[in-house]
Amino acid sequence: MAFAEYELVVSGGRVMDPESGLDAVRHIGIRDGKVEALSETPLSGDEVLDASGLVVAPGFIDIHVHGQHAAGYDYMARDGVTTALDLEAGATGLDEFIEDRVGKARIHYGVAAGHIGSRVKVKHGLSPGHVLTRQLEGGFLSWILRFVQRWFRPTGWINEPASEKEREEIVSVLDEDLAAGAIGIGMGIAYTPGADREELKAVFELAARRGVPCFVHMRMQSSPTDTSPLEQVIGLARETGAALHIVHVNSSSLAAIESNLASIEQVRAEGLDVTTEAYPYTAASTMIETALFDEGFREKRGVDYGDLQWVETGERLTEETFRKYRAQGGPVILHMMQPEWIEVAMAHPLVMIASDGMPMVPGAHPRGAGSHARVLGHYVRERGALSLMKAIEKLALMPAQRMEAFVPDMKQKGRIRVGADADLAIFDPATVRDRATFEEPLQYSEGIPHVLVDGVFVVRDGELVDLDEGAAPGRGILAHH
Ligand SMILES: [Zn+2]
Repeated sequence: MAFAEYELVVSGGRVMDPESGLDAVRHIGIRDGKVEALSETPLSGDEVLDASGLVVAPGFIDIHVHGQHAAGYDYMARDGVTTALDLEAGATGLDEFIEDRVGKARIHYGVAAGHIGSRVKVKHGLSPGHVLTRQLEGGFLSWILRFVQRWFRPTGWINEPASEKEREEIVSVLDEDLAAGAIGIGMGIAYTPGADREELKAVFELAARRGVPCFVHMRMQSSPTDTSPLEQVIGLARETGAALHIVHVNSSSLAAIESNLASIEQVRAEGLDVTTEAYPYTAASTMIETALFDEGFREKRGVDYGDLQWVETGERLTEETFRKYRAQGGPVILHMMQPEWIEVAMAHPLVMIASDGMPMVPGAHPRGAGSHARVLGHYVRERGALSLMKAIEKLALMPAQRMEAFVPDMKQKGRIRVGADADLAIFDPATVRDRATFEEPLQYSEGIPHVLVDGVFVVRDGELVDLDEGAAPGRGILAHH
């Protein structure tokens, strides 16, 4: 009997590595959670997975996920995701976020230092900290946004500017989490109109000092073609020297998508470090009680009440039901983007894919379950909007490259080479597809039969693997400055 050199061999798959351009049948030898061999000839292992006919890609890295809970990780794993980070809302109290998940997470996890949370903490003497990232009433985002509506609106942390002292405290709360390993600074400035330019500048200056990006949900447009929100944050990046990442450029640009992407290309050519992401759907999702639905939202977004879909019942709204639900509060889906805008974003070489996945509860936006398979099935196979290799680059390599200067783990993720982490998404390019819909979002993607995290199967033969408490392979991903 041959000596088994590797713990696991992934044999005969079409290995696609966007960094080296490798696209060929290879045999992958895995030991201690790492890729140790990438061979043209068969290898022997304690266990051999026959991957013939399947694509073997680096596991997908989603940098914008709010559904940081066990069920959320299940849906993401079935969608090929091996690392789920919330770099937009982030957390306040990084240690608790990590401690809550040690040994329990199917996939890798991490967060940014959250500007929203720091504002709540400083302006209200509260420490939303880890509570922000726990799953109350179907998710922290829903919880925090309800919190906003019920207790603090309109006089609280949303609309009030910070005093000089508060501004310094906000910066120091953020800096504590950065020192503990938070991945950059997450900013939802569309949700905090009270944060004035001085405050935003102070936060950007902190990012520049720490050498990390600000991951920003920009201010709301005054019309679907308004480009001033992008100009504002680029101005801050230019003035402070901070790196900038624009979250969901699709829903934050609407009809200005092409001109915004052109602006990002242009400032990059000037040497600014600006990146962006999009999710592959024509509808957005958020909470109906937030500042995003203040007076004038129909003109600003170019929508009407009937473009709003109430998550709890699936109904389209009228002026009357809009008022009723806004007083009540809760998640809503906003159908406001044209299919061609999304195709522009998917095809654009600068745009990485991130889901903005919400906590997976009945009626949630399907992007939390299907974003990655949707890119591969709909945009690559059906629409031909981009090549398979380019898609894998956007799903895995580009997110890793965005962080590798300050997150050491990222140097070994997003690619398949000797020494890389054995995080792998193994899928059938002919059948991979999303099944989650706006009507029935709680459906796993299909055509991704095997997913490995640090060399451990978390999805096998198309099923989630039962993981014992303490045996789950997901690790906390931390930055080092
Ligand atoms: Zn988000």
